[in-house]
Amino acid sequence: MNFDITILGCGAATPTQRLSPTAQFVSIHEHSFLIDCGEGTQIRIREMGFKMQKIEAIFISHLHGDHFFGLMGLLSTFSLLGRTKDLTVIAPRDLEPWIFQTLRISDSYLTFPVHFVATEKNESAVVYETEFLTVKAVPVKHRIACHAFLFAEKPHPLKVKKYCIQDYQLGIEEIVKLKRGEDVIREGGEVIRVSSVCEEPQPQRKYFFCSDTLPLKLKDADLFNVDLLYHESTFLDDHIERAAHTFHSTARQAAQVANHLQAKKLLLGHFSARYHDLSLFATEAQLEFAESEVAKEGSTYSISL
Ligand SMILES: [Zn+2]
Repeated sequence: MNFDITILGCGAATPTQRLSPTAQFVSIHEHSFLIDCGEGTQIRIREMGFKMQKIEAIFISHLHGDHFFGLMGLLSTFSLLGRTKDLTVIAPRDLEPWIFQTLRISDSYLTFPVHFVATEKNESAVVYETEFLTVKAVPVKHRIACHAFLFAEKPHPLKVKKYCIQDYQLGIEEIVKLKRGEDVIREGGEVIRVSSVCEEPQPQRKYFFCSDTLPLKLKDADLFNVDLLYHESTFLDDHIERAAHTFHSTARQAAQVANHLQAKKLLLGHFSARYHDLSLFATEAQLEFAESEVAKEGSTYSISL
């Protein structure tokens, strides 16, 4: 079961020849999602060979153009290619009228149903859920309302060890009960414990996408110990005042957030175009948090079981 994050864009503000604005293609258990949709995202999806019509939900962190100006074009392409499959869009409330206004002005329409889920300013909530995944929107501090997104795998079903089925002569009902995590008590008092017949549960993987924001000391227990944290680092510490003024973070501050949340790995992104040597971001962050890395467009970061 895969858990892959592909960076389609990790530049800030404007598209350049070197970097595209924010977008990430997320594939979990072979289901496809998109986080943010900066200008040119559909081209990046094509370049990577991903099937865009398979995207089930799009998560938009906030309504600055470099995080959603590619969405209208992508929705239009979905329609031109004859999409009929439902799409869920999780975004600030104002996105919905923007889409319908643009459709009206351009005399176009969508060939598929869109379900809008609004993220509310300063509110933390589970905004998307499937049988294997929950996505929580977490408010962060930016110039306008902005949410980070926590992608968390649900607990994997327990597996009964094969030889135990034989040894204990387990019946179907007993196996179903054990898989639910409940001990079996047989007539006569024999107890078959989950801990003795089931395999160790597989770890639940977590990915936390955090852009754009000032550095925060988040307290929500769900956000701690994530396998991968993507945190914006628009600037280096040489522009720490500018970072504060524009509600962004520096690489060192992003690393401090990773430390605070006890993340296993930090991926830095949302780089200002003023910087040409991106390795400086990793160097600065690694002084605070060793497992820091610079996000690379076109690279896939997999979280293994
Ligand atoms: Zn922004």
